[in-house]
Amino acid sequence: MTDYVGRFAPSPSGPLHFGSLVAAVASFCDARAHHGKWLVRIEDIDTPRCQTGADKLILDCLQAHELHWDEEVVYQSQRLDLYHEYVDKLRQRTQVYWCTCNRQRLKTLGGDYDGLCREQGHSYENAALRVHINEPTMAFHDLLLGEQTSAAPICDPIIVRRDGLFAYNLVVVVDDIEQGVNHVVRGSDILPVTPLHLSLANILTTSASTPSLDTKIPAYMHLPVACVEPGRKLSKQNHAPALDNEAAKHNVITALNFLGQALPDDWQRRSLSQIIDYAISHWQRQNVPKCMEVIVAE
Ligand code: GLU
Ligand code: ZN
Repeated sequence: MTDYVGRFAPSPSGPLHFGSLVAAVASFCDARAHHGKWLVRIEDIDTPRCQTGADKLILDCLQAHELHWDEEVVYQSQRLDLYHEYVDKLRQRTQVYWCTCNRQRLKTLGGDYDGLCREQGHSYENAALRVHINEPTMAFHDLLLGEQTSAAPICDPIIVRRDGLFAYNLVVVVDDIEQGVNHVVRGSDILPVTPLHLSLANILTTSASTPSLDTKIPAYMHLPVACVEPGRKLSKQNHAPALDNEAAKHNVITALNFLGQALPDDWQRRSLSQIIDYAISHWQRQNVPKCMEVIVAE
């Protein structure tokens, strides 16, 4: 094993569909091709969006597709103490503040927050907690797409939501740090917030009190997202069908095709685990289409 640590981090808002399988297969093959670990994390922090039992369906589905993970599956809902610790640390050493701006106000700003509440001294009531980021990371090198620059300014992300839940953008960064993840392979729908994730990772890992001082900020690779038409990704909202575990081999073949990967000539005669082994040993990052989305038949 090398020190490569990758992960797949599904949100249990429903069973896996083809779009999520693409991210699972790519992160798995990239990790295994580098003799690394592949972790699975259930991103159930946004409890109102979670569906009971979806975690089990997701894990069964991964097993049925011969995508076997290392270490115990981590659930965000069981790590609230950890997130508390990180928020406390930020409160001690950076400027965090309560923001009372409502959706309407943010909308008039075009979605880009302007820092209005930074000096206002609001109390926590009906407010979200933001962290002031002095020097945001505006650009990064994507392992597939090359140099990427943030399209929007990065201003003081929310770390605790108005409803008291930890913000997704905070916990994903904390989890990747805590789990030692150094390679993030995921859909390009998350590319726009990657500079924000890097900015948060930066302030969280440069802290003198951060437990693991040797933590490195992960490298990122963003994959095209499977869309039914331009701008409309396959998702639960547009009724993407759940993956059929009985058709696991077909699903994996389709995902590898989507990812531009070579298949053995005699794939029809091979078993799913043989196809997965072939995919790992022939994995070519650079063959993945370098685009934001790929249209697939509905
Ligand atoms: N939980 C996110 C999703 O299912 C993925 C986040 C990530 O890979 O960083 O879309
Ligand atoms: Zn505000």
